Amino acid sequence: MSTLLIDSEKENKEILNRYRKLLRLSKPFLRDNDAKIIKKAFYTALQAHKDMRRKSGEPYIYHPLAVAQIVVEEIGLGTTSIVAALLHDVVEDTHLTIKDIERDFGPKIASIIDGLTKISGVFEHGSSQQAENFRKMILTLSDDVRVVLIKLADRLHNMRTLDSMARDKQLKIASETIYLYAPLAHRLGLYSIKTELEDLYLRYTNTEVYYEIAGKLKQTKAARDKFIKDFIAPIKENLENAGLKFEIKGRPKSIYSIWNKMKTQQVSFDEIYDLFAIRVILDSKPEDEKADCWKVYSIITDTYKPNPDRLRDWISTPKANGYESLHTTVMSHSGQWVEVQIRTKRMDDIAEKGYAAHWKYKENTPKSKEAGLDLWLKKVRDVLEQNDIPALDFVSDFRSNFFNEEIYVFTPKGELKILPHGATALDFAFEIHTHIGLRCLGAKVNQKLVPLSYILKNGDQVEIITSSKQKPSEDWLKFVVSSKAKAKIKDALKEEKKKIAEDGREILERKLQHLKLNLSNDTTEQLLKYFNLKSSLELYYNVATNVIDVADIKKFKEWLDQQKKSDKKETEPVKKNKKTVSPQDVDTLLIGDNMEKIDYSFARCCNPIPGDDVFGFVTVSEGIKIHRTSCPNAVELVSNFGYRVIKAKWNSEKQLSFLTGLRIVGTDRIGIINDITKVISHELHVNIRSITIDSNDGMFEGVIMLFVNNTQHLDKLIKSLSEIQDIVSVSRITS
Ligand code: MN
Repeated sequence: MSTLLIDSEKENKEILNRYRKLLRLSKPFLRDNDAKIIKKAFYTALQAHKDMRRKSGEPYIYHPLAVAQIVVEEIGLGTTSIVAALLHDVVEDTHLTIKDIERDFGPKIASIIDGLTKISGVFEHGSSQQAENFRKMILTLSDDVRVVLIKLADRLHNMRTLDSMARDKQLKIASETIYLYAPLAHRLGLYSIKTELEDLYLRYTNTEVYYEIAGKLKQTKAARDKFIKDFIAPIKENLENAGLKFEIKGRPKSIYSIWNKMKTQQVSFDEIYDLFAIRVILDSKPEDEKADCWKVYSIITDTYKPNPDRLRDWISTPKANGYESLHTTVMSHSGQWVEVQIRTKRMDDIAEKGYAAHWKYKENTPKSKEAGLDLWLKKVRDVLEQNDIPALDFVSDFRSNFFNEEIYVFTPKGELKILPHGATALDFAFEIHTHIGLRCLGAKVNQKLVPLSYILKNGDQVEIITSSKQKPSEDWLKFVVSSKAKAKIKDALKEEKKKIAEDGREILERKLQHLKLNLSNDTTEQLLKYFNLKSSLELYYNVATNVIDVADIKKFKEWLDQQKKSDKKETEPVKKNKKTVSPQDVDTLLIGDNMEKIDYSFARCCNPIPGDDVFGFVTVSEGIKIHRTSCPNAVELVSNFGYRVIKAKWNSEKQLSFLTGLRIVGTDRIGIINDITKVISHELHVNIRSITIDSNDGMFEGVIMLFVNNTQHLDKLIKSLSEIQDIVSVSRITS
């Protein structure tokens, strides 16, 4: 950076230009003194960051300016958020304190900035600073959603400018994004931001795939546009004849969602039929919205035949993130299924911009429609109130509870309840009331008796059966997915355990007395050490339930006497049982900042081979493990323990073999296996370890495990195999 020649006059001009642009965009939101406050915030930030530059070499102030712009332009927030966005990094990165902000900008702005400032310091072992910071941010959801919205804008700008970061930082930021921020954006209904975050994630973790899909989308664009034009024409005419005011267009799917589909359905790009959806956006009066949307549905299905299984009505029951729309899939005249989304301008605004748009329309929204997002936020608050669990568990709990799609079920009286996907009858019982949950014996679902572990489906009507004799057990934790039910069951079990432990303590005291020992702090410590337990509660409980009996306690006494004797002697240092990693071709991988040669081993979850994009992860007991950046575990590892990630890069590729797997699909014919093995072992001299073939109705699917040297070698093999007659697809198996 120091080598850059900086034309400060030009730079200052550019800074002012960007600031003026921000003001222009803010104009519709400005009232009274707002412009003055924004100006003050801008100059405060400019001054505070004046000697700082971004990794790209640009003046740091570009970043808060860009974040403020996203906040107003893409999320639709007002002055308070613009000011907070401009100041969002000053407390963390400059000499200014929260106190300074409070004095100059008031308590509201100060509390938002506080929410946006990372926690620093040291965390107890087993925790993770990243998880603690996630938790802190999520906790702010309960009093001001704007903190999270500004954080999302901050993250979006960081992702947009990820190019100048070091590779390990890129991975860390990208993984956190897909693990937490993109789902959070989705949950708050910020569809455009969520989509962009996902696409950027893919671009930085799986660059090749990203550009391959982007390229194919470009190649096929002209044909697609023509198809859309032909498909739309008759609909357009009929809608106009019906006197409706509307806009109709084709919307391409995101690169990330296409990639996801290719992965989960094991199909190639060419096999994906729904690369786009058609969207009809109506200009409707509030009272006509629903009727107009169904009118459009009726007109479209008069033109094209709908697939009855693919009708989705999110107008009558909006999604929990506030999404409203009517979806149908119809058959085009050329025999291709096409998804059509029908919604009004208001619904479209909420779907694209989310939370802020939701509030903008709130006054004009029918009461019943408000439910979705408000209900979700209320639930978040309820759950956040009862949290004393470790940060890592908190984050993973939060993800599974609030990011998955939900199901809609009904009480016997027809009241709607929304539960996380995978919820059971027991979850439902706790949703009704803790008291009902704790005494739940089973349930009647649609009049049929089911066990409490029964997994509910959309539309189920559930009646809970209780018994006063019922008590929760450890097993119950396996039957629930909602945090509420989990927390309540754990509380009840803890209470129960405490009661039993009280008895256990008395029993233990008596038994120790027989052996002439007191239940002192010292003895307790020794007991915990001897029985390898974490708390005295557990110790007492084990005694009460006879897991630890008299004989065990006698043995403990013998051990204790033994200890005391040996304590007098010089204590021998315990030899660390250090595992040495077998030096697997250290030449091929360079690790860390200095790209040194360090011992490592390959992660079994993703079996990296030379040429793969990889990173190193420092494990607690097994040294450095090498994962592929596309490893299914990578996102979680890097999101929670980014500080343990180190750069790793392949160097020279020695002729070593690595185990990998291929999935081959094709039409079954005599001799095809012979053709495959011939290509593999004769032409390319690859060793096969195992081969399994499944054939069914003239199709076959084979999984072949084999040894290859590197990705180039593998690509060549895949190409040759694809060229065999009757082979439909050949793909590498990931985990
Ligand atoms: Mn920032």
